[in-house]
Amino acid sequence: MIFEKAADFEDVEYSYISKESGGYISKNRNIFNFIDLNDFNQFVLEKSVFGTPIFKIGSGGNKLLVLSGIHGNELSSQIANLKLLNRYKDTKLSNTIYFIPFAAPVSTMKNERNYLGEDLNRSTHIKNSLSNRILKTIINLEIDFVGDFHTTAINSNPGFESIFASKSPTSESFLISTYMSRDTGSKSIVFPIAGESYNGAMEDECNIAGIPAITGEVVSPFGAVGKGSIRRSLAQMKSFLGYFGL
Ligand SMILES: [Zn+2]
Repeated sequence: MIFEKAADFEDVEYSYISKESGGYISKNRNIFNFIDLNDFNQFVLEKSVFGTPIFKIGSGGNKLLVLSGIHGNELSSQIANLKLLNRYKDTKLSNTIYFIPFAAPVSTMKNERNYLGEDLNRSTHIKNSLSNRILKTIINLEIDFVGDFHTTAINSNPGFESIFASKSPTSESFLISTYMSRDTGSKSIVFPIAGESYNGAMEDECNIAGIPAITGEVVSPFGAVGKGSIRRSLAQMKSFLGYFGL
């Protein structure tokens, strides 16, 4: 995978995971109304028209991924990820942070959970699915740790603010979730073995591949931004980075 320097933002590099998944985020007013229209966000939205972009800031140290938009209609975590990216865009880091704010921009545009009818958090194990391509990118870039950030509606599963993790085969998933739970007050939900109850979740497949991962969930209605939900998701993301001293 070859990263290009962003012309106007010298500390930011970007590449593409897919050139088929692009969409006009601005068409979804439920998310667009919460995005500051600064030059950098316009750059990110433009890149998202052509596929799934991945952004890179820093080099060396731990390689971390902050991922969101695996479910296109979970908006708060995608906005929070964009805010986090803004916060780091002018910094020279001695660690490496990768950001995928919009895993499937076309699904975000349509305000839909699935991508091409497929739940990306149940298809990471299926060859050439979009989430499988994200997993392969994680492996190829030798990313060390993954935080996948979602939202959950009241009366859905889990329906409350939480951090999902597992103890086996990568116990550090559990350690990260314990830290984040203490730090943010999100409830830690830990499974003994990754992928035991169902197949194809991004977090589980990363853990199975030996890359410690967690899933963050904050409460917000699907397809809309609940009060305080962007701030809560951003708090989870900062806590994920905080575990690594960032
Ligand atoms: Zn989700």
